[in-house]
Amino acid sequence: MPSPTIFLDSAARIDTANPQRSALIDLGAISGNVETLRGIAGTAKLMAVLKADGYGHGLVPAARAALRGGADYLGTAVLEEAFALRAAGVDAPIFTWLNAPGSNYLRAIEEDIDLAAYDCAQLEEICHAARQAGRPARVHLKIDTGMWRGGASAEDWPRLCGAARRALDAGLIEATGIWSHLAAADEPENPSTSMQLAAFRAALAVARDLGITPRLRHIANSAATLSNPEAHFDLVRPGISVYGINPLPPEYRTSRMDLRPAMTLRAAVAHVKAAPAGAAVSYGGTERAAAATQLAIIPLGYADGVMRSASSKGPVQIGAGRYRVIGRVCMDQFMVQVGSDAVVPGQQALLFGPGTDGEPHLDQWAQAADTIPYEILTRIGTRVPRIYLESIPAPDVSGT
Ligand SMILES: *Cc1c(COP(=O)(O)O)cnc(C)c1O
Repeated sequence: MPSPTIFLDSAARIDTANPQRSALIDLGAISGNVETLRGIAGTAKLMAVLKADGYGHGLVPAARAALRGGADYLGTAVLEEAFALRAAGVDAPIFTWLNAPGSNYLRAIEEDIDLAAYDCAQLEEICHAARQAGRPARVHLKIDTGMWRGGASAEDWPRLCGAARRALDAGLIEATGIWSHLAAADEPENPSTSMQLAAFRAALAVARDLGITPRLRHIANSAATLSNPEAHFDLVRPGISVYGINPLPPEYRTSRMDLRPAMTLRAAVAHVKAAPAGAAVSYGGTERAAAATQLAIIPLGYADGVMRSASSKGPVQIGAGRYRVIGRVCMDQFMVQVGSDAVVPGQQALLFGPGTDGEPHLDQWAQAADTIPYEILTRIGTRVPRIYLESIPAPDVSGT
């Protein structure tokens, strides 16, 4: 394994020399995944989505790794995330799409951050900031093509385009993009995607007739980037796949989609002890040992992002053995039943990773916890230091 460098966001309380819990982050995997996705996206540009602390991998290191892999754009949900990237010296184009009234649009314009406009009131607020800044804002108009999340409805769309046309003529905005978001691209047979794409094309035609012809038309998340070239337009916006997780059902995955999970979650076994058959393990005694067994205590709990819903189910690799959680996951720890195997305190227990040491895949944890990989990655707690493995030249994370 390449030698690790340690980067900590907030937790001075962590013993960095000897972390008992860690999320190893393979930045080379992130760069490689972006390269793979660029190949799949063809001529479309690529925006690497970095919201929620780079899906739990660390905002700035993930951004640098994505840029090294050839990302053209970076995407964040909220402005605070974009400001943090700029503060760290990241000068690539950034698009931010989820901002309520009162957001600091002036600073966004001054820091060259592209903004989404969902309705005329938001566009007006952005224009007001552009007047103050003395320079145009780069705006991506959002059409809701059927997800019923943010964006102008088809009914309100012509009004938003008309307002954008006037702002354009007044020199207050650049109409950089028109975009939307897909609700069910991870279900390739779901007819809603083709209906959303048709609605998107109709909205583009309406905009064109009103004099809005942006250079970036974009709608594809990871699932659409991987499976639906019709959705690529000028730019794709993959998130989860940048981190090596394929959101498509297994039967739709192909060898072209050569993604490598970037995160390995692990902890040192804290304690090993013998328990008799029938021992009621953990809170509530919800599960009993079926036979006399050794129990290994793993110091990761739901405070660290090990979902309580994975109680009695989540898989764990220790050495050559594959085990599972027995009883309930606690706040800081859980138990696994290791039988008579030679598991010893201090040994690394691997929860998920790329599979190179026999460890489970995040998909298995998502299934065990009855959730999606996104939720697990974005809930790994601050008590788990992210340790960056450099299989590529070290990123400059000094600004953070
Ligand atoms: C999260 C998000 C993405 C990325 O979605 P993935 O499924 O992680 O690829 C793209 N666009 C928007 C607007 C998002 O909110």
